[in-house]
Amino acid sequence: MAPTEAAAAAKGRVTALGVAACERDAEKLEFIEEKTKNFDAEQARVLAEILARNGGAEYLRRHGMEGRTDRAAFKARVPVVTYEDLRPEIERIANGDRSSIISSHPITEFLTSSGTSAGERKLMPTIEDELDRRQMLYSLLMPVMNLYVPGLDKGKGLYFLFIKSETKTPGGLPARPVLTSYYKSDHFKHRPYDPYNVYTSPTAAILCTDSFQSMYAQMLCGLLARTEVLRVGAVFASGLLRAIRFLQLHWKELAHDIRTGTLSARVTEPSIRAAVGEVLAPDGALADFVEAECAKDSWEGVITRVWPNTKYLDVIVTGAMAQYIPTLRYYSGGLPMACTMYASSECYFGLNLRPMCDPSEVSYTIMPNMGYFELLPHDPAAGEPAAAGRDDGPPPRLVDLADAEVGKEYELVITTYAGLCRYRVGDILQVTGFHNAAPQFRFVRRKNVLLSIDSDKTDEAELQAAVERAAALLAPYGAGIVEYTSQADAATIPGHYVVYWELMVREGAGGRMPEAAVFERCCLEMEEALNAVYRQLRNGDAIGPLEIRVVRGGTFEEVMDYAISRGASINQYKAPRCVSFGPIIELLNSRVLAKHFSPACPKFSPHRK
Ligand code: AMP
Repeated sequence: MAPTEAAAAAKGRVTALGVAACERDAEKLEFIEEKTKNFDAEQARVLAEILARNGGAEYLRRHGMEGRTDRAAFKARVPVVTYEDLRPEIERIANGDRSSIISSHPITEFLTSSGTSAGERKLMPTIEDELDRRQMLYSLLMPVMNLYVPGLDKGKGLYFLFIKSETKTPGGLPARPVLTSYYKSDHFKHRPYDPYNVYTSPTAAILCTDSFQSMYAQMLCGLLARTEVLRVGAVFASGLLRAIRFLQLHWKELAHDIRTGTLSARVTEPSIRAAVGEVLAPDGALADFVEAECAKDSWEGVITRVWPNTKYLDVIVTGAMAQYIPTLRYYSGGLPMACTMYASSECYFGLNLRPMCDPSEVSYTIMPNMGYFELLPHDPAAGEPAAAGRDDGPPPRLVDLADAEVGKEYELVITTYAGLCRYRVGDILQVTGFHNAAPQFRFVRRKNVLLSIDSDKTDEAELQAAVERAAALLAPYGAGIVEYTSQADAATIPGHYVVYWELMVREGAGGRMPEAAVFERCCLEMEEALNAVYRQLRNGDAIGPLEIRVVRGGTFEEVMDYAISRGASINQYKAPRCVSFGPIIELLNSRVLAKHFSPACPKFSPHRK
């Protein structure tokens, strides 16, 4: 529905973004307008505020910034850094040094990023009032969504949200994922009632670190409220698929509980039992319905069958999550997928002002009040952005967001209230346009190299594109790739790329497992899709034939369980697109059903890109 139609239904106040659903929404939409119109002035204000606050801290003093709050001095004196550069400061804070090292406000906790450094999770220092900024960004999401989808106050959201148990650094600061920090905060736990943000999941279930109990209770409550549910979501697409998998595994037990009005004894947490007890009553008709739907051979469209009033999926499917789009389409019967925000442990960045657009068109508008942002130009043809802040090259020239050029790619560099200064986030973004004076970005990829055997470098986006091309060959068989990862196998001579595929075959709907020759063609198709350096080296025998290993159903769930058992967060978990960790490779290899190799060399000509 276009904003004007939705607005007509809502009859709210007119704002530049559309007609607001209610007065509170109007204020939020006007806030977005004001901040994006005065984007650069707001950025200058935020930088001056950060520099005034943290100017007395050791880090800025060391770089000659004490007392200086202007942008020119900042740009001239403060280096562009990576996590590795900041590691000594971060370790001192983690080890208990409470002096003002990077921030004059006390570091209250570390947020454990899903990004790693030397095999360990990155620890992002944060301060108390960052929670207010995160909360502020969250508060903008529904007013924007209400412009496009009317009536969301008439029902509930089924969101699968999880926390993870936290650890303490040697110096005693909590270390936990950013969403765990947020859900455990008073901001979330004691949020005022908002008719546009009513969840089916009891807070007690969200706040339980036992992922089975948490998921079980959230799914049960979602089933009990099935006709009230207007949107279904999780943070990332992988989380929502995990919920569907959970339903596939546990529907009988869930239906039993609904039939008898008693909660499974496997849920032991008293606060969850109490919360579920408030909504659970014997309902034979609903139990029959759940059993009938879940017993069907085909799970196509299961989300819309079980939750028939769902208007959209609220789930991030940009970046590494793009590969889940076909599977989500299958389970949801083609519901729109809304990617509402772009955020990280370091800083929350911005939101999608057209949340109902196609996933391929998602652009995020950065909010200038979240932190101070700069851009490191990135030439896609030249590989990664130049190493910054090093001795072996000129210092990089960073671009202010107001000067971003449409069509160009940049790496995001941030300066935060918590004390990160000119810190490279590692995300590559492409400018797609502006909302007022605020640039809008397509998330291109996380800067990294996934696979390398020789001088070849294959990144996540290239591997994803190759897998998608090969997946098209499976489509006639009613088969698709549920999940994949890769490994640079150096044990063979020459080394070769191994790609692990977990498949879904729609057997109930006439699908069948493709024969070996099809998988061999898939191997070659992937090689054809890889970059010129790869194809050249492959033709020169520096790289062996690409191999596909088909693993049995549920393998990637085991990989995820393993990662979670080692400290990963369910919310932030993203299946690794490349694995090098021995136990995970062993796990994958022990689940292999079949191996297939590319039967020929991919085409290569020095003139073809
Ligand atoms: P973490 O540090 O674990 O919170 O992960 C943050 C990273 O997740 C970001 O730097 C991005 O690489 C990725 N990410 C977050 N939001 C999005 C989004 N909307 N689309 C694509 N990738 C995202």
